[in-house]
Amino acid sequence: MLDFPSENLTSNENRLTALNAIAPPQIYKPSEAVQTVPFNKALITHRELECITEAIANGHLTGDGEFTKRCQAWLEQQVGCQTALITHSCTAALEMAAILADIQPGDEVIMPSYTFVSTANAFVLRGAVPVFVDIRPDTLNLDETKIEAAITSKTKAIAPVHYAGVSCEMDTLMDIANRHNLLVIEDAAQGIMSTYKGRPVGSIGHLAALSFHQTKNIVSGEGGALLINDPKLLERAEIIREKGTNRSKFFRGEVDKYTWVDLGSSYLPSDLIAAMLWAQLEKAEYIQRRRHSIWQYYDEVFADLEAPQILQRPSIPGDCQHNAHMYYLLLQNLATRTAVLAELKSKGVQATFHYVPLHSAPAGKKYGRVSGGMEVTDDVSDRLLRLPLGGGMTLKEAEYVVSVVLNALG
Ligand SMILES: *Cc1c(COP(=O)(O)O)cnc(C)c1O
Repeated sequence: MLDFPSENLTSNENRLTALNAIAPPQIYKPSEAVQTVPFNKALITHRELECITEAIANGHLTGDGEFTKRCQAWLEQQVGCQTALITHSCTAALEMAAILADIQPGDEVIMPSYTFVSTANAFVLRGAVPVFVDIRPDTLNLDETKIEAAITSKTKAIAPVHYAGVSCEMDTLMDIANRHNLLVIEDAAQGIMSTYKGRPVGSIGHLAALSFHQTKNIVSGEGGALLINDPKLLERAEIIREKGTNRSKFFRGEVDKYTWVDLGSSYLPSDLIAAMLWAQLEKAEYIQRRRHSIWQYYDEVFADLEAPQILQRPSIPGDCQHNAHMYYLLLQNLATRTAVLAELKSKGVQATFHYVPLHSAPAGKKYGRVSGGMEVTDDVSDRLLRLPLGGGMTLKEAEYVVSVVLNALG
């Protein structure tokens, strides 16, 4: 078992000492000579290889083996969803959700433009039109006050994205969805272990999708999960994930042969990937503590620059608990961000910006449409800077990042 330091970390120095003290004994380092601060250094220990070795020894290399079951049980317990089905990616989980929502050509799905392409693509693949709504200037999440104006007779679903692991205003959103008979599909790619009014993100909408991509908090390289909170959707979800067959029922002995019964594809990962994921879930709390230490450190250091309006820090509503998925700064303008990014790059720090708003991307223009103004989205996408953050990052690295940013900002 890993030892954790005392909770009372009062200063950055204490935090630094504490973070280093909880560094695990054996961190697996494929390349020791890292001259740069990676954008997302995941916390990989000897456990990942041990679990993968065990999966190979088990001899069950296909999907839905022992490790898959363990991961799904963990997610059901921790996220409090009815059922979790792990997938190849969050993208795959969103595609499953679009099939489950019975999206037909011409249907509309309301979503932010300030998101990753998969939020939209999953629905466009079924012929739907993504309808982009602006975001809130504080959380950068879908602006719930602008959703109703975007609803038409063709609207089928709302796909809120919990940006940076900070929950959307889910009570308002669910109320709108219920009144208009819409499905809510949470893009919780960034939201594992975050809460809204004490309820885990991913447990509130009818469906939700998680990501275990290398850039997320818990990583299996590529990976994801579909969370099902509406029991009516479960049976079909299992079928869609198993190439449109009732194979899951067959394995449970509920039917005596399996056959093609519905649409579907191969959305289930090998148990080798599940083994990697399990090793990460085992230490999820520990990874989170390390991420929070770094997030908190950044937040304290940059606090002083907010009053003189040099930058803006992330804003977390009082009833949301975030998961330290991302630390970003909103700088004054595009020119400042470009200059700071160039400086970071020249000093070996891998920082990034995102997103090119979907409504202004070529495919977004072709397949989607905008509802209302996009002022906040356009403004934020010009000014947002993401700093390196990862479970395997050290506070020394974070201090270096901060020194380069402060230097670049003069
Ligand atoms: C990362 C991400 C995805 C895609 O996740 P994959 O697991 O890479 O498919 C989708 N939506 C959002 C908001 C994301 O951040």
